[in-house]
Amino acid sequence: MGKVSCPFCNSKNTFNISYGYLKEKKIKKNYVELDTNINYRKGFEKHDFDGEKLISHLPNHYCKDCGKRFQSRKVMYTVDISVINLIICINNNYYRYIFDFSDKENPNYTLKVNWLPININESITINDMNKILSSFKNYKPNLWNSHYRDSYSYTKYYWILKCTYYNGIDYVKSGNDKVPNNWHDFIKPFKIIFNENIFDLES
Ligand SMILES: [Zn+2]
Repeated sequence: MGKVSCPFCNSKNTFNISYGYLKEKKIKKNYVELDTNINYRKGFEKHDFDGEKLISHLPNHYCKDCGKRFQSRKVMYTVDISVINLIICINNNYYRYIFDFSDKENPNYTLKVNWLPININESITINDMNKILSSFKNYKPNLWNSHYRDSYSYTKYYWILKCTYYNGIDYVKSGNDKVPNNWHDFIKPFKIIFNENIFDLES
């Protein structure tokens, strides 16, 4: 098996991370131990944004070139969401919200209307970020159809949702004059945070 590429810098200078205790025997070569104290049990756990324990989701690789840890498997959680693009075109106006959650301590967003920047890297509160992530967790847009309505023409509106995880994996969903059944629940935090009625799309 070839070496896994680093999703941050593309280097192949990556190594498996082993979690264990000092007295455990390590037979495999090239293991990198990041924690100075291997007995440190805390490093065995990862939590979702809402505190749910994600035991199976520890980083399993380490990049020697950029020093970042990452998980190479394709199982992603909402806490792993890095960037969200939400585009809504309605009444001949084009709105694009770009949420940057790559730094969970400093979430921010950019809003462009008709390609003109209205807000750039504006801070949003961690609480608001968590409300948005809750929507992703509860209403699972990753399981939506890839496109709502057969055609790509529209008379009222179209929308596009792109969600990118920290390791570069992403998905895109869209619709023309049609939204998924749980859209109104999903979109609620966006409505509340931005107090905008453009999110009230009806099928
Ligand atoms: Zn790297």
